[in-house]
Amino acid sequence: MLNIEKVRADFPELSLLINGKRNTFLDTAASAQKPQVVIDSLLETLTRKYANVHRGSYSLSEQLTYEYEQARKQTAEFIKARSPKEIVFTRNATESINLVAATYGRSKLNAGDEILISEAEHHANLIPWQMLAEEKSLKLKVFKINDNGSFNKEAFLSALSDKTKIVAVTAMSNVLGTIFPIEEIAKAAHQAGAKVVVDACQYAVHAPIDVQNWDCDFMAFSGHKIYGPTGIGVMYGKLELLEDMPPYQTGGEMIDTVTYEKTTFAPPPARFEAGTPAIAEAIGMAEALRYVENLGWKNILEYEQDLVEYATNALSTVKGLTQVGTAANKGGVFSFVVDKIHPQDLAFILNQEGVSIRTGHHCAEPLVHRMGYETVARASIGVYSNKEDIDILIKAIDKAKTFF
Ligand SMILES: *Cc1c(COP(=O)(O)O)cnc(C)c1O
Repeated sequence: MLNIEKVRADFPELSLLINGKRNTFLDTAASAQKPQVVIDSLLETLTRKYANVHRGSYSLSEQLTYEYEQARKQTAEFIKARSPKEIVFTRNATESINLVAATYGRSKLNAGDEILISEAEHHANLIPWQMLAEEKSLKLKVFKINDNGSFNKEAFLSALSDKTKIVAVTAMSNVLGTIFPIEEIAKAAHQAGAKVVVDACQYAVHAPIDVQNWDCDFMAFSGHKIYGPTGIGVMYGKLELLEDMPPYQTGGEMIDTVTYEKTTFAPPPARFEAGTPAIAEAIGMAEALRYVENLGWKNILEYEQDLVEYATNALSTVKGLTQVGTAANKGGVFSFVVDKIHPQDLAFILNQEGVSIRTGHHCAEPLVHRMGYETVARASIGVYSNKEDIDILIKAIDKAKTFF
C-alpha cells in the first residue's frame, strides 16, 4: 500500500500555497513535481562532485563518470533493457524520436516506404516522421482510433503492409489517457517487416516498462515527466540496430579516431551522445527512477488505478461536462470540455482556486480536432495526487459554472 501522506511530503512544492489556496496540481502529464531526493541529488552533484565526465584523469572526473554510467545502468534496469549500451541519453523524448528519425530513418528507408503512426500521437511522434517522409519521398500513414479513444485493431492491421518500415506509436496518449497494446502492435509490425518505435513518455510514469516483453526496437521517454530533472531524456534502441546506425550529431565524445581527412565513430551509446552530456540531470533522473522503484510498481498501479476510477466517476457526475477519451484501458489523464465555458476561461477560474490544469491542443492538434474539438481542458495525476485533488477540481468546476 502506498502511504500517500508520506509520498506527498516527499514533494516540497506541493505544500506551497497557490493564490492563497491549497496547491492542487493536476498537470503532471505536462511535467511532474520533483521529490526531495532528486533535488538533493542535483544539489549534491553541483556542489560537491562536479567535473566533466569521460575526460579527466583526476578523481573528481573519474568518480562522476562512474556515477553517470551508473545512471545509465539504472535506466537500463528500469526498462529491462539487455544492456546499458542500449541506453542513449538525450535532452527529452522529443530529441529521442528525432534521433531515431534522423539516423535509422534517414539511413534505412527509401522512396515509397511507409511509416505508420496512430491518430493519437503527440506532435513529437508525428512531425519528425512527416519531415522524414517529405525529405525521402516516403508515405506517412495514420491509422484510426475508435471514437472513445481506444485502439482500433482492425484499422491498424489494415493500414499495415509489407511497405511499412516503421510503426511509431504512443504507449499511452497524453490527451486521451488510452493505453495502447504495444506487445500486440510490435508482433504484427515485425511480421510485416517493420521496426517499432514506442513513445513511452506518459506510459513510463504510470506503469513498468519491459522493452524485451514489448519487443520494441526503439523507445523514448523524458526525465522531467517521471519526477526527474528537465534536460534529460532516454532513447532506447536494440543494440544490433544502434551498432548499424550513423551518428546523430558530431563533435566531441562520439568519435573513435579523428584526422583532418576522416573520422571513425565510437560504438553506441557514445556514438549518439556528442558533446558534454547533461551530467547532473542524468544522475538526478536515475535518482527519480530509484524513487519510483522504492515506492514499488505494484503499489503505484494499485493506487493510481483506484484514483483513475474515482476521478472518472467524479467527472461523470458533473452536469454539462463531457470527457474526451473514455477507453476502458486508460491511465491518469482526463481531458474534458464543459458546456458554455471555454477551456481557457475554465483554467483561469480554476487557477484562482489553486487548481493547475492545462488547456489547448496538448501538442496533439490533429488528435484534438479528430475528437471534435479545437481545444480541451486536461487534468492529469501523478503518484502524489489524491482524492482531495479531484474533489477540489470538481468543486472548482462547479464554481466556474456559476459564472456562465
Ligand atoms: C510530453 C510528451 C512528449 C514530449 O516530451 P518532451 O519531454 O517535451 O520532449 C512526447 N510524447 C508524449 C506522449 C508526451 O506526453
